[in-house]
Amino acid sequence: MLERGEVANSWRRERWDSLRLLTPNWQCRLPGLRYEGPDPDGYMTAGEVTGLIERFATVSRAPVRTGAEVTSVRRTDEGYRVTTGGGEIRCRTVVIASGACNRPVVPPFSDAVPASVEQLTPFGYRSPAQLPDGGVLVVGASATGVQLAAELRQSGRPVILSVGEHVRLPRVYRGRDVLWWMDASGVWDQRYDELEDLTRARRLPSPQLVGTPERATLDLNVLTSMGVELVGRWAALRDGRALFSGGLRNMFSLADLKMERLLDTFDEWAKTDGYDAEAGPPERFAPTRVPESVRLQLDLRSGEIRAIVWATGFRPDYGWLDVPVVDAKGQLNHEGGVADSPGLYALGLPVLRRRRSTFICGIEDDAREVTGHLAGFLAARR
Ligand SMILES: Cc1cc2nc3c(=O)[nH]c(=O)nc-3n(C[C@H](O)[C@H](O)[C@H](O)COP(=O)(O)OP(=O)(O)OC[C@H]3O[C@@H](n4cnc5c(N)ncnc54)[C@H](O)[C@@H]3O)c2cc1C
Repeated sequence: MLERGEVANSWRRERWDSLRLLTPNWQCRLPGLRYEGPDPDGYMTAGEVTGLIERFATVSRAPVRTGAEVTSVRRTDEGYRVTTGGGEIRCRTVVIASGACNRPVVPPFSDAVPASVEQLTPFGYRSPAQLPDGGVLVVGASATGVQLAAELRQSGRPVILSVGEHVRLPRVYRGRDVLWWMDASGVWDQRYDELEDLTRARRLPSPQLVGTPERATLDLNVLTSMGVELVGRWAALRDGRALFSGGLRNMFSLADLKMERLLDTFDEWAKTDGYDAEAGPPERFAPTRVPESVRLQLDLRSGEIRAIVWATGFRPDYGWLDVPVVDAKGQLNHEGGVADSPGLYALGLPVLRRRRSTFICGIEDDAREVTGHLAGFLAARR
């Protein structure tokens, strides 16, 4: 196992200070390692996740070589030649487990943002104290965007949140964590080869959730009540003006509708599985409130906004992979983790084999199946 930094590198270096997992502690299981602490319904801090992964590396006796950055992987007649700072390794198979979130995605027009406005990505952002005083524009309303908008607003700054397609979820539903429902109802176990639109499922943004001790919901209604101003998707930048799309009403109704459909699925499962009596009664939530007036543009030279936080998603980085298995959008071509190059595999990508694939609790089943294929491949070659 080659790791360019230290064990749990992404959790040490690429997370902001207040971040906690979205997934409750009891759900953060790794093979043979279950949460046994005093707060199963709580949410780990980034430091605690680092501790969990370090512990797993120790108990599983993972043969990790740290400080070993892979700079190239090439095909050879026998398999692959892997180049690292410390030399070359020849191997028959390679498993790419370099992560799905190596780089923050920022739209190209960010280059034209006036220099007076500071720009940050979630990799550079640590806490509100780091930003200049004044207004902040947070772009993107998925898990990262809603969490940072709330934190920045709580620090006393005026915050505008630019909202694109998003996934709305309550934190707690019928008395249980919403991710408990995803787990128990089998939604998270839906397999990649059973989904109607796999490409879409793989592109789905992260849900609007935050892990707090209060298990509080953090949706757009909560943000509006906190005083965050909502605007549409940032579509273009012209003469120093950010231009936002209209149509918030439609976008909100779509997210509300999808949430209700998911809650219907949970309710049906509870009824058929005999869980109905045990759970609280079915709940429905107020629709997302559409602001009375929504700005369609914002002059970035006016001084109203002093900083922009790009919460516009993440992407993997395969700059080191010299095998033609990456598409024009920078995504790896694979079928359930089996890449289109003999002996090349992947783990930890969105909906790799099931909906839970990129979550900590998703690795065990995926890894078993992918390594099963890999073992078969080696046996056949022998
Ligand atoms: C902001 C954020 C919040 C998240 N919240 C949750 C959550 O609440 N619950 C949950 O279950 N999951 C969450 N995730 C997903 C989480 O990242 C994964 O569950 C888990 O970290 C994935 O592990 P991984 O090993 O696949 O990828 P990563 O954690 O990204 O690890 C990949 C490793 O590969 C190394 N690497 C990359 N390129 C190279 C190279 N060329 N050479 C050598 N090493 C290399 C990196 O240094 C890194 O250590 C979150 C992710 C993000 C970005």
